[in-house]
Amino acid sequence: MSQRTDLRPDTLVVTAGRNPEDNFGYVNPPVFHGSTILHPTVKVLKAQSQPFTYGRHGSPTSRSLETAIALLEGGYRTKLLQSGLAAVTTALIAYLKSGDHLLMVDSVYGPSRSFCDTMLPRMGIEVDYYDPYAGSDISSLMKPNTKVVYVESPGSNTFELQDVPAIVAAAHAGGAIVIADNTYGAGYYYKPMAFGVDVSVQAVTKYLCGHSDVMMGCITTTEELWSGLHEAYRNLGQSVAPDDIYLVSRGLRTLHVRLERHMQTSITLAQWLEKRPEVLRVIHPALPSHPDHALWKRDFTGACGLFSFILKPCSDDAQAAMLDGMELMGMGYSWGGFESLIVPQSLKNNRSVTSSDFGGQLIRIHAGLENADDLIADLEAGFARLNACDK
Ligand SMILES: *Cc1c(COP(=O)(O)O)cnc(C)c1O
Repeated sequence: MSQRTDLRPDTLVVTAGRNPEDNFGYVNPPVFHGSTILHPTVKVLKAQSQPFTYGRHGSPTSRSLETAIALLEGGYRTKLLQSGLAAVTTALIAYLKSGDHLLMVDSVYGPSRSFCDTMLPRMGIEVDYYDPYAGSDISSLMKPNTKVVYVESPGSNTFELQDVPAIVAAAHAGGAIVIADNTYGAGYYYKPMAFGVDVSVQAVTKYLCGHSDVMMGCITTTEELWSGLHEAYRNLGQSVAPDDIYLVSRGLRTLHVRLERHMQTSITLAQWLEKRPEVLRVIHPALPSHPDHALWKRDFTGACGLFSFILKPCSDDAQAAMLDGMELMGMGYSWGGFESLIVPQSLKNNRSVTSSDFGGQLIRIHAGLENADDLIADLEAGFARLNACDK
């Protein structure tokens, strides 16, 4: 099948990475299980001239999904990793060394922050956090040894949109590369590499998988930066199980259809929540009330199912009464699956140069693929429990 790069994104989701003619006409690529790959002659073995040489280095199964993601992200090549966090940490290790300086966005995913606060300093890498709204002012924070500027737009839980093109321009001018966490955009609604970002990282666990049954991450790079990633990946002994890759490849084929519904339902719920007296503020980039709505419209082609709202101050018991009794919305971490989730999030210890006080409890919702009216009824009953508790 053609690996054309000029196809529209929804066609790419369906076609990329599949070659039925290589597989007896089967629509989906087969799942190769294996550690050992046999070499027919000493000459081939010594030259390492087969496309696959050892299980840990990849298989036709991993290559297929990697090809598909690289095409979607508009990058040169992609590597799969055991989790989204492994993708974040491997990307940082690949491009930083002792004595280097990292500029990390303050609204970064919590566990990524933890890696920067614990492991990176131990390796002699200096980390400074910056305001997600820094834009081109990032140049004033750059040092001669700044090698990576890391963006995550929108930010985790609080959904600040970053002016990525301005940050890229300043970072490149100062000799740094830019790594983006593109989990929110899923390589579909947002294409950071089209805005000059050098390395795009995703938690495949979320929308590419889409069914809450696999942990996986991916890193996509430009051609120039590929060898750096390849070296880190190999030396860190990364490897991903073929059955997991198969599940993600299967999830990928419906990415665009699922995302569209996640977006619609999340907007419907967000608009409904905006009218509730219990809600101080809704934070959803696709709503005109979002402070960065214009930036979102400029750079994104859609929004996903994830957003937050802030409850007006109420007792802990009232919050628990609301959340404990939810029928359809499950209370759990991660997101991007077919099911709706609701979870209270604390920003404490997760912000260092911007405020972690949003005026009340932040609640994060992932709008799943259920009927929006049923989800609204679930939320409505939750608010009734909250109000009854604080009467
Ligand atoms: C979930 C998430 C990750 C980490 O992915 P895991 O697969 O859970 O390790 C990284 N970045 C963002 C923005 C996430 O939401």
